[in-house]
Amino acid sequence: MNLILLGAPGAGKGTQATKISDRYGLVHISTGDIFRENIKKGTEIGLLAKSYTEKGELVPDEVTVAIVKDRLTWDDCKKGYLLDGFPRNLFQAEELDKFARIDGVVNINIDPALLMDRLCGRRVCRECGESYHVSTLNGATTCARCGGELYQRKDDNPETVGARLAVYNEQTAPLIDYYTKQGKILNFTGTEAPAEVLFEEVRAVLDKLAG
Ligand code: ADP
Ligand code: ZN
Repeated sequence: MNLILLGAPGAGKGTQATKISDRYGLVHISTGDIFRENIKKGTEIGLLAKSYTEKGELVPDEVTVAIVKDRLTWDDCKKGYLLDGFPRNLFQAEELDKFARIDGVVNINIDPALLMDRLCGRRVCRECGESYHVSTLNGATTCARCGGELYQRKDDNPETVGARLAVYNEQTAPLIDYYTKQGKILNFTGTEAPAEVLFEEVRAVLDKLAG
């Protein structure tokens, strides 16, 4: 089963991505994670990506598409994959259709008013990627799941978040229509309830799709 995970920044894609890929044995491919790793290691891709991610803009399509196209040729993708953060505009979606066969698109809808606070208050575990919100951490600086150090992503500041939300509205949201026309969209509503609640709904639908 090959899936795409769609939703605004802050909709809770990361948490659902971990749960979905665990449950269905899918390779989790996050373009955001790939860029962050490259930035950390100081690779050529990292140096290029840094200037865009810091501003909340999209890394150029030719670079991003080439990375995904190559990643999907790896052997592990034969068991199925979950694309998280890709495609992010119509061009990327059309390119993807040339080299991939997608079975379903999990779209998480969420009240946009929640996103700014969610992202600016987000803290992420360096080890396992789990995310938390400062308002519920009570000053804790380590991950409840694995003990890893929590940090704040560099692009989780009001200015960059504003840019990321604008990019989502202008370039990524039209993909909902694109995949609805292909009959692949699976709609869900993100809430303030624990991620397990949403995952139960996603699981019910994906169990059927997985057959
Ligand atoms: P979020 O969904 O929380 O905004 P991601 O971790 O998915 O964050 O992405 C972080 C940044 O990486 C984006 O703001 C963008 O600069 C870059 N990026 C990730 N995926 C893509 C993509 N498909 N195309 C272009 N840039 C991307
Ligand atoms: Zn952790």
